[in-house]
Parts: sequence; structure tokens; C-alpha cells
Amino acid sequence: MALSSKGREHEHSFKIKQNWRSPARDPLNSIVKSSIRIPSMPKFKENIPLAKFANYRIGGPARFFFEAKTESNVAWAIAEAKARKIPCFVLGGGTNLLMSDAGFDGLVLKINISKIGAKGNLITAGAGITMAKLTNFAARNSLAGFEWAGGLPGTLGGAIRGNAGCFGGETKDNIKNVRSFNMETMRFATRNVMQCGFSYRTSFFKKHPAEIILEATFRMKKGDEKKISAALREKKEWRKTHHPLEYPSAGSVFKNVPLSKIVDRRSKEYRLAIKDRTIQYQGSSFSVKTDPIPVIAAAKLIGESGLSGMKYGGAVISPKHTNFIVNSDNATARDVLVLIAIAQKKVYRKFGVKLEPEIQIIKAAA
Ligand SMILES: Cc1cc2nc3c(=O)[nH]c(=O)nc-3n(C[C@H](O)[C@H](O)[C@H](O)COP(=O)(O)OP(=O)(O)OC[C@H]3O[C@@H](n4cnc5c(N)ncnc54)[C@H](O)[C@@H]3O)c2cc1C
Repeated sequence: MALSSKGREHEHSFKIKQNWRSPARDPLNSIVKSSIRIPSMPKFKENIPLAKFANYRIGGPARFFFEAKTESNVAWAIAEAKARKIPCFVLGGGTNLLMSDAGFDGLVLKINISKIGAKGNLITAGAGITMAKLTNFAARNSLAGFEWAGGLPGTLGGAIRGNAGCFGGETKDNIKNVRSFNMETMRFATRNVMQCGFSYRTSFFKKHPAEIILEATFRMKKGDEKKISAALREKKEWRKTHHPLEYPSAGSVFKNVPLSKIVDRRSKEYRLAIKDRTIQYQGSSFSVKTDPIPVIAAAKLIGESGLSGMKYGGAVISPKHTNFIVNSDNATARDVLVLIAIAQKKVYRKFGVKLEPEIQIIKAAA
């Protein structure tokens, strides 16, 4: 997202709020400097290869890179990016994106706020915590509600933004509120679950890319630690056998297709498909999954289009799960993009369905 020059006013007001003092106007400054060790100011790193921060292991260098461990780190980094007039990209665990081979000509801001705590049935966690740590913390505290997320890669921030989901559960399910920082207005806000505008793989935050998710509070249920841990393990095991975890990837490349995109929601055929959990479409038989809305699997559409195992450069449409395009041999972003384009074209030709990418495709500069 490019930062506009109108942000300068906000940057100023942020500095004032932080009791910033001009050295020239502050007579105490030189005395303080000589008597107390002032903690060093945070600094952007430069020319950092993004491939090591992306689960795909693909991506050129970020011109600037900064890991924010606190909310004020985030505000500082954005003010600094505005002052330098450079675009900013917010990075979580890098498990749902394809970085450009040319890297990112701006600031990549990695959210590493990873504090976590429980009070009664409530869990509050920073956006940078991994879903693995969050779900294990819930289990250790005998708090149920995240069992669906066993083995879900990435951070809490990424999961909230895309309303990540699986096994019939979604990130939105237990959310009480989400705290965020707006890069344009430089303001913090807390939204309740309604205001977060969650629906299938989307949220208010995805529709408003200036919002940086900082923290969320979840309303959980009392449960049994052993049962919760067993449910999490079961989901992890399922993933090991069904997903090509042996190769770097960004998970499912395309969103599953809502049943309503292929048959009219008011038709008898739609009702029957829900009841029988299956539908015949263009000569193929599709299972109808609840995800949590009725969908047919993008993987099946790709498989039925004869694309399983198709290779381009170092990228392959995984025969283990045809909605995964894996990096099997030093793939470039271009290799993956070529396979994405082929899958979209072939599926459209055979089924008249437009596959929509679920992964975020990051260009060299916003
Ligand atoms: C093997 C595998 C299996 C997967 N299985 C599933 C699955 O079952 N269900 C599912 O839904 N997804 C799945 N995914 C995709 C991915 O794990 C999730 O979408 C995850 O929630 C992304 O989180 P992240 O922190 O890695 O986000 P990133 O990949 O870092 O970022 C994704 C997007 O979110 C934005 N973002 C990240 N953090 C923040 C923040 N704090 N504030 C604002 N924006 C932010 C980024 O700018 C980017 O646009 C899978 C991925 C893999 C590799």
C-alpha cells in the first residue's frame, strides 16, 4: 500500500503524542545524553531476502525490513515509512503469500507481537503469535474453541485478516474483539466481532488494507485439556496425510467454489445437493463440503481438468492435493504464476468456473 503525503500531519501528531522533543529546542537534551544511556532507536534492516520469511521459500529482497514486537514499534515503523515516502507491506507468518522474484521495493513490516494471556474464559493474544502457540496455550489452559485450527500454519494476524478456517471452524468463531492500527490515519481502534465484517475467507481488515491487526481477544469455553489436545493432534495428523507438507507451499492456492456459483441457491438441485452432499456437474461428480458455506473443492475442479502433476519450472500442481502448487525444485514466483494462470484457464474452459486465488500475490511494489 502506498502511503500518501497527507499522512505527514498524522506522523506529526503521533510524534507529539510520544512526547517527542526537538534536540534544538530542548536544553535538557545534551545533559541527558551525557548522563544516561539512551536506548538505541529502532532501525530498518536493508536488502533482506524475503524467501526465508515466506513458507514458499520464494521471493527477492525487501529494500527495508523491520520486525515489530510492540504496538509502538508498529506506529514508529509506519511513521518512518511515511517520512521516507516508501510503501509498506505487512507480513505475518508468510504462509499465505507468493512474494515477487524482484522482492519488495519498500518496507516489509513483520508483525512479531506475541504476548498472550488468559483471564477466566478469555484469551488475549498479539497478532504475531503463531496459531500453533495460540492453540497449545488454549489447550494447556483447558480452554476449548480452537480445536478446528490444529496444524493451521501462520500467525493470528494472518488468520484474522483472511478469516482462516478448516474442519468446519473459522477464526471468527470465538472472537470477542480485534485491535488494529490504521496506517493512513495513524489511529488505533478496537472492533467487536460484528464490526470485523467476517465472511468466507475475508474480513473488514482484508477489505481495508491500511489496517494492521495488533491483538485479539477470544471468548472460549471451559474444556478438558486432554480432549482438546487430542482433537488438535488429530487435525495435525490429518494434514500430514492429506497435504504435501514435504514441499514448501502457501497452502490452497484457490478458494473453494461456493455451490451457489454453479447452481441457483433457490433451485431444487441446490437443495438436493446439500441433502445428498454431492452434485453431478458437467459430467463430473463433486462432493459438497461445508466450509462453512456449501462449496465444491477447487482441488477437484483442477484434478478433473487433467492438471494433477503438471510441472512448470520448479513448480508442480501437487498430485497429493491438486489445490496446492508446490515449490518442488527452486521454483520462482513466475513458475507458480504460470501454473495459476493455466489452472484458471483450463477450469474455466471445462466448467465455466472462475477460480479465485486464496493466496496473496505480492508485487515488487504496491
Ligand atoms: C500447508 C498449509 C496449509 C494451510 N491450510 C489452511 C487451512 O486449512 N485454512 C486456511 O484458511 N488457510 C490455510 N493455509 C493458509 C495460511 O496458513 C492461512 O491463511 C494463515 O492464516 C495466513 O497467516 P500468515 O500469518 O502466514 O499470513 P501471511 O501469509 O504472512 O499474510 C497473508 C496476508 O495477511 C496479511 N497480514 C498478515 N498479518 C497481518 C496483520 N497483523 N495485520 C494485517 N494484515 C496482516 C498480509 O499482508 C497478507 O496480505 C495453509 C497454508 C499452508 C502453507
